[in-house]
Amino acid sequence: MFDKILVANRGEIACRIIQTAHRLGVTCTAVYSDADANARHVALADQALHIGGAAPADSYLRSDAIIAAALESGAQAIHPGYGFLSENPEFVDAVEKAGLIFIGPSAEAIRAMGLKDAAKRLMEQAGVPVVPGFHGDDQDAEHLARAAEEIGYPVLIKAVAGGGGKGMRLVDRAQDFASHLASARAEAATAFGNDAVLVEKYVAKPRHIEMQIFGDGARAVHLFERDCSLQRRHQKVIEEAPAPGMTADMRMAMGAAAVRAAEAIGYSGAGTVEFIVDASKGLHPDRFWFMEMNTRLQVEHPVTEAVTGIDLVEWQLRVAAGETLPVVQEDISLKGHAFEARLYAEDVPSGFLPATGRLAHLRFPQGVRVDTGVREGDEISAWYDPMIAKITSHGPTRDIALLQLRAALAATEVAGTVTNLTFLGKLAAHPGFAAGDVDTGLIGRNLDALAASDIPGDAVRAQAALAAAGLDRAPSAFQGFSLWAPLEQDMRLCQNGEEFEARISTVDAATIRVRIDGRDIDFRRSSDRWVGPDGAPVTARRFGDHVAVFAGAAFEFQVVDPLLVADALAHDPGVIEAPMPGLVKAVLVRDGDSVSAGDKLAVMEAMKMEHTLTAGRDGTVSEVLVAAGDQLEAGAALIRLEEVVE
Ligand code: ADP
Repeated sequence: MFDKILVANRGEIACRIIQTAHRLGVTCTAVYSDADANARHVALADQALHIGGAAPADSYLRSDAIIAAALESGAQAIHPGYGFLSENPEFVDAVEKAGLIFIGPSAEAIRAMGLKDAAKRLMEQAGVPVVPGFHGDDQDAEHLARAAEEIGYPVLIKAVAGGGGKGMRLVDRAQDFASHLASARAEAATAFGNDAVLVEKYVAKPRHIEMQIFGDGARAVHLFERDCSLQRRHQKVIEEAPAPGMTADMRMAMGAAAVRAAEAIGYSGAGTVEFIVDASKGLHPDRFWFMEMNTRLQVEHPVTEAVTGIDLVEWQLRVAAGETLPVVQEDISLKGHAFEARLYAEDVPSGFLPATGRLAHLRFPQGVRVDTGVREGDEISAWYDPMIAKITSHGPTRDIALLQLRAALAATEVAGTVTNLTFLGKLAAHPGFAAGDVDTGLIGRNLDALAASDIPGDAVRAQAALAAAGLDRAPSAFQGFSLWAPLEQDMRLCQNGEEFEARISTVDAATIRVRIDGRDIDFRRSSDRWVGPDGAPVTARRFGDHVAVFAGAAFEFQVVDPLLVADALAHDPGVIEAPMPGLVKAVLVRDGDSVSAGDKLAVMEAMKMEHTLTAGRDGTVSEVLVAAGDQLEAGAALIRLEEVVE
C-alpha cells in the first residue's frame, strides 16, 4: 500500500477519498486553487499545495502543476476523483512518465471508452448488446438520414464525443432529421471540437440502469446495478440500488455483459457500464443496451457501497498498489436498498439556475450518510459545481429506505443560498417514484408540480417575523418576560417577491402574538422555545437580512429595510444582468446596435447548460461590459442600453 497519495480534486469527492485513505493509514496531500484555500478538503488533508487560480483551467485541470505537487510532496500515487482530469488519458500518461501511479484504469482503457462510437464497436465485438443504430465513419448527411430511416423513428442523434447531454437531439419524424442533425453538429463542434455524430434507436419508456464494475487488469466483478432514471435534462437527481423491479435473470445478464465489457479492455479499477433499458413492458434480459462506460469512480457510488458494504475507494487504492481483486463474484451480496439525493445550490422555480452564497447555516440529519465538501460558513462559489452534499439512506427494504430519505431531506437545514431541497423532498414523495414506476421522463412530465415553490402559510410567515425581530428563542423564565415586554414591533418581510407586514405584540407572560393581514397567530412559551398553533416549535433563524424557516421545506425571507425599497423600485430593465453565476459564452451585440424587447443579447453557460439573455425593452446598446470567456457573479451587469428619454 502507498504511504502517501495526492488527491487531484476538490469538494465532496476529495473529502471522501481522504477519509478512506486515512482509515487505511495513508497520508494525503490535497491541492487547491485560489478559491479553495480554506476549503474542507484542504482542512482534512495532511498537507495542501496551492496549484493556481480559481478557474479550473488554471488549477484542477493543470496536469503539470498537479504532477509537480505530487513529486514535491513525495506522494507515490494520484487519485483523480471524478470530473476534471479523471478521464484524460494524456494525464495518465504524464503521471506515469513522472514515475507516479495513477489510481484508475490505464490510458488505453480510457481511450478505448472515450468516444461513444468506438466504444460501441468494441462492445459489439465483445458480445455486449448495444442500442440498434449507426455508429460508422460515414458522416454524410444523406447517409445518416438513410440510417435513421432503417433504424426507424424516433431516433436519437448523439455527438460521438458527447457528455452531459450535449450534442444530443431526439428526432420524431424524417422531415425534421436534417435540421436536428445540423444543430447537434453545431453544438458538438463548439462543446467538444468534434462534430461527428451517431444515430441510434430512441428507446421507449427508457430507464437508465448502470452496473458498477471493478477490475484488477486480469479479472473483473460487478457490484450490482444502480438505477439513475430520475434525471432532469440528462442529469441525475436521485439514484438508487438495486433497481426497482429488477429480476434475477436480467441482473445476471446485465452483470455478465458489464464484466465482459470490462475484461475486453483489461480494465483495472472502478468503472461504470451504463445501459439504457426499454421498460415499456417491465424489465427483460433482452431489453437493455450498452450506452457508454465511465472509466472512473461515479458520483453516485455511495448507493453501491451501502448495499454491498464495500468501500470502493479502498479497493481503488489496493488495486492501484498492485493487489489483485480481494473477492470473487460469489462473495458479493446485496443487502437492503439505498437512495442518494444530490443537494445543490440552485434556484429551481427559475429553471434550476445554479446559485451561489455563503452557507450561513448548515445542518445534516443523523442516521444517513452525508458526503459533503462544505461546512457552515463556507462559500458556494461560481467557479465550481454548486453541489452542497449527497444524502444517502440505506434501509432493509425500498419502502423504508425511501421513508428514511424523505425524513432526512425534511431534517436538512441550509440557509444562505437557495437550494433544490424542496424539489428533492417533493420528488422523494412522488407516488410514481414511490411505486418504483420510474423512467427518464418522470421528472420532465411532473416538472410543474415538482418545481413549484411552496407558498408559506401564516404560521410560517409569523415564525419568520419573530426571527426577524430577534425573538426566535423565548427568554428564559429566570430572565422574566417583563424585561422586554410590553412589546409592539412591526416587521416587513419579503418572500419570493411578495412583501408583507407583521405586527408582533405580547399577550401575556407566556404568549406572543403575530398579526398578518388581520389574522392573529399566537405562539406559546415552552421553556426557552416558542410553540406555534400547530404544536410545532419555531425553527426560524435570522442570518443578516435573511430569515430561514425550516418547516419540512425551507423558506427564505428577506427582511425589508424601508430605505432599500426605493432603490429596488428604480431597477432598470435596460441593464442586462447575469441571472446566475456562470461563464459568458457569447455576446451577440455591439455598441450602437439597436435592439427590440426579447432580442437575444448574450449567451451564458452555467452547470453545463446554456442560457440566453434577452433585451428587457427596445433600445440602443450603449455599453457592452463583458466578453466571451468572462466568469460572472450573479447580478453582474453584462450590457447596458441607452437610457430612454421621455
Ligand atoms: P451523455 O454522455 O451526453 O450524458 P448518454 O449517452 O450517457 O449521454 O445519455 C444520457 C441520457 O440520455 C441517458 O441517461 C438517457 O436518459 C438518455 N438516452 C440516451 N440514449 C438513449 C436512447 N437510445 N433512447 C432513449 N434515451 C436515451
